[in-house]
Amino acid sequence: MTDDLRELYQEVILDHGKRPRNLREIPGATRTAEGYNPLCGDRATVYVTLDGDVVKDVSFVGKGCSISTASASMMTEAVKGRTRAEAEALFERFHALVTGEPAAPDAPELGKLAVFSGVSEFPVRVKCASLAWHTLKAALKGEDAPVTTETGGE
Ligand code: ZN
Repeated sequence: MTDDLRELYQEVILDHGKRPRNLREIPGATRTAEGYNPLCGDRATVYVTLDGDVVKDVSFVGKGCSISTASASMMTEAVKGRTRAEAEALFERFHALVTGEPAAPDAPELGKLAVFSGVSEFPVRVKCASLAWHTLKAALKGEDAPVTTETGGE
């Protein structure tokens, strides 16, 4: 990655960390789930409104470091309007990115989410970046138990 690109990426993360998108509750959401990353203290509650199999609306509330907030913010933008299967495929792709693993051959394009590629160099930050996604996955599955990054794997 060039220095210019790295700077641009940092700006995107800073921007979303400072001014998170879709930071709100959804009254009457179809699904909600709570996530907690004890390593950093990040907390996120994800709200999803499903229309059939499509994520019609998605939002989050929570407190955490700028990486976790930026990731939650960008997650909501990335999965809105997608089907559940597409959202889960995107999560798999994103997870591969932040853990530095190769993507599956049929993986979806990450678009702006690629800004998190630098996270793979900082293992502690992987959980910050993936918390909102784990929580989304739990919400889509309809799991009631709170998610923690310590029992749910990476
Ligand atoms: Zn964090």
